[in-house]
Amino acid sequence: MSTLEQRYQTVRAHISSACEQTHRSSEAVKLLAVSKTKPAQMVEVLYQLGQRSFGENYLQDAVEKITQLAHLADIEWHFIGPIQSNKTRVIAEHFQWVETLDRDKIAQRLNDQRPTSAPALNVLIQINISREEQKSGIAPEQAEQLAAFIEQLPQLSLRGLMCIPEATQDESKLAAQFDEMQQLLQQLANNHPQCTVLSMGMSNDLALAVKHGSSQVRIGTDIFGSRD
Ligand SMILES: *Cc1c(COP(=O)(O)O)cnc(C)c1O
Repeated sequence: MSTLEQRYQTVRAHISSACEQTHRSSEAVKLLAVSKTKPAQMVEVLYQLGQRSFGENYLQDAVEKITQLAHLADIEWHFIGPIQSNKTRVIAEHFQWVETLDRDKIAQRLNDQRPTSAPALNVLIQINISREEQKSGIAPEQAEQLAAFIEQLPQLSLRGLMCIPEATQDESKLAAQFDEMQQLLQQLANNHPQCTVLSMGMSNDLALAVKHGSSQVRIGTDIFGSRD
C-alpha cells in the first residue's frame, strides 16, 4: 500500500470509529479530501480508491487540476476558500459546490455567472461561529436572511452550513460552537428543508464534530501530508 493510500484509509477508519462511538451510520458523514496545493496525480490516486469529493482554496491551482482531471466524470469539486468578487466567474464555471458563501453580493454574482447549461451550484453558508472579528463568515443570527436571499436565485441550490471554529485546544469551547451550529442547521431546515449538510470538523476535531452532527469533515494534511 502506498503512503497516500495508507493515510487515506486511516482517515476513513477514524471517521467510521467516530460514527460508531456516537451511534451514527458511517454513511452519515462524508469525507471532503482537501487537496489544495497537491498535484492532480494524487487526486487521481484517491479517485481510483473511491474518493469523489475534493476541496480547494487557491483558484489557479484548482482550475489547473479540474481541467487536467476533466475525464473523471463524477468527481466533485468544492470551493472552500475566501471569495473575492473578481473570482466568482471562475468559481461558478468550474466547481460543483461553494462552501464559503457569506454575503448577498457574492451569491448574486455566482448565480448570474453560473452557466445555464450546468446544474445549479450547491452552496453552503459560512458561519463565523466563534464571532472573531477578522474571520470570514456571517453571524449566526444573519443566516436566515442570507438563506432567503439565496433561495430566490435559480442557479444556486442552498444545501446547508459550514464553519471553521476557533483555533483552540479547549474542547468545551469547541463543543459549544459545534453544538450551536447543529442547532442553527435545525432552525434553518424549518424554512429550508433541503438544508441537510453541516460541513465542520478537520483533522484535530473530527470526532467532536461528528458527535455534534457534522455531515461532512474536511481533511487535508492527514491525507496528503503537510503543505509547503
Ligand atoms: C485547508 C483547509 C482544511 C484542511 O486543513 P488540514 O489542516 O490540511 O487538514 C479544511 N477546511 C478549510 C476551510 C481549509 O482551508
